[in-house]
Amino acid sequence: MTTAAADIEIRDPATDEVVGRVRPAGPEQVDDAVGRAVAAGREWARTAPADRAGMVRAAAAAVREVAEELARLNETETGRPFGDGLGGVLAAAGTLEQYAELGPLHRGRSLQGNWSATDLMVPGPRGVVAVITPWNDPVAVAGGLIGAALVTGNTVVHKPSERCPHLGRRFADLVASFLPDGVLTVVDGAGPTGALLSAHAGIDVVAHVGSIAAGRAIAEAAAGTGAKVLLENGGNDPLIVDAGVDPEWAAGQVALGSYANGGQVCVSVERVYCHAAVAEEFLAALAEEATRWVYRPSAEGEKALGPLVDRRQREHVHSHVAEALRAGAVAHVGGAIPAGAGAFYPATVLSGCTPEMRILREETFGPVAPVRVVDSFEQALAEAIDDPHGLAATVLTPDMAHAQEAWRALPVGTVKVNAAFGGAPGGAAQPRGLSGTGFGYGPELLDEMTTTKVVHIEPCPTLHGR
Ligand code: NAD
Repeated sequence: MTTAAADIEIRDPATDEVVGRVRPAGPEQVDDAVGRAVAAGREWARTAPADRAGMVRAAAAAVREVAEELARLNETETGRPFGDGLGGVLAAAGTLEQYAELGPLHRGRSLQGNWSATDLMVPGPRGVVAVITPWNDPVAVAGGLIGAALVTGNTVVHKPSERCPHLGRRFADLVASFLPDGVLTVVDGAGPTGALLSAHAGIDVVAHVGSIAAGRAIAEAAAGTGAKVLLENGGNDPLIVDAGVDPEWAAGQVALGSYANGGQVCVSVERVYCHAAVAEEFLAALAEEATRWVYRPSAEGEKALGPLVDRRQREHVHSHVAEALRAGAVAHVGGAIPAGAGAFYPATVLSGCTPEMRILREETFGPVAPVRVVDSFEQALAEAIDDPHGLAATVLTPDMAHAQEAWRALPVGTVKVNAAFGGAPGGAAQPRGLSGTGFGYGPELLDEMTTTKVVHIEPCPTLHGR
């Protein structure tokens, strides 16, 4: 018998009101979903890539039609400001469309063997992909992984985050409605349901976007089944402010990198190393800029700061800030939990941060810019590099030699010079260190979702020829 206590309750992080409940899938439901995916896989793998792509393209159009509904649901379940959420939903639709284009073009090679033989390298689907996703950009992340898995002939069991299960289900059910039965199935639940899925013998790939701890547990579970693991996990992205930059412009970049989506972006700026030559002006400008990041319900504009995803996340963020303050850091603005309903946390600027503080060593995932003032660019770069994460990094510098040295030396998947965010379409990178493994997006994700077979075909000698 399942009791109501086992249900997961979802609260609107702006008001604390309960906005839904889901019952986590247990072993039977996970078994059932994987069984359906395995059964559907036979026909789906045989379906012409262009036909598969046509279904995914139609699903993308349907997602566009309900984009505002999904963005509102995103705001209600995770607090993400409507405009940001809408951007994420439209990104998901765009990614589904891109994979619908790229899927049929994804191909192998013919080899130069004997005159009478045919030799090929052919990519094929891996089987059933478990797509396990987080809450912080839920639709875009799920859309990319699901799209790439489907167009390459895999079937999918998707477990959206337990913090936005209604959004996850609405999106995935809509996409599934354009596909044959069992090709895309959704299961509800939190870590324990994800663990059942990752350890299931019927799963061939586990694609996880989320925390380092969960990614590690998934890798251990998959080691027991032989499933391939694709991990896009947390980061601790540094940003360097070099001497010679305009302090106000640098402050704007740091604020954008630290406060967008309440600092809950995998590539948020997590630690700032500022050259002493510009530190005073930069800190003053950043403190002023931080005060412009405020909460506006259903805000569409820039600098909209929603609540954090829930009070648990706020406790985590504040524990980093409070520890830094106790150890001697100074809060120029923010740094305290506000009174009232919701999981709000103010845009915060700290200075006096030192390398042993957790706020510089671990992912905070909140609207906090912890600044460490350093004496040279070389010191900034050395401290930025000295970290076990490997997601992304940013360098603000007018010095081309510094930019060149930094992008080559930083042991991360993505480096941005003179812009906190940005990048050309089609770019893809592998995270390093604790931050994960494999291409989680871009055209290369199609390679991750397939496995290559080499084929050698010779004519059969006729009986007469013997
Ligand atoms: P999380 O790992 O707690 O949850 C993500 C998903 O994993 C959820 O669906 C959750 O139920 C599931 N899960 C949790 N424990 C599991 C287990 N033991 N086995 C299987 N599944 C499990 O992460 P989160 O808090 O939802 O997301 C925030 C984190 O995601 C941050 O660390 C952020 O940096 C990271 N993130 C990374 C990227 C990237 O591209 N690298 C993108 C977005 C978010």
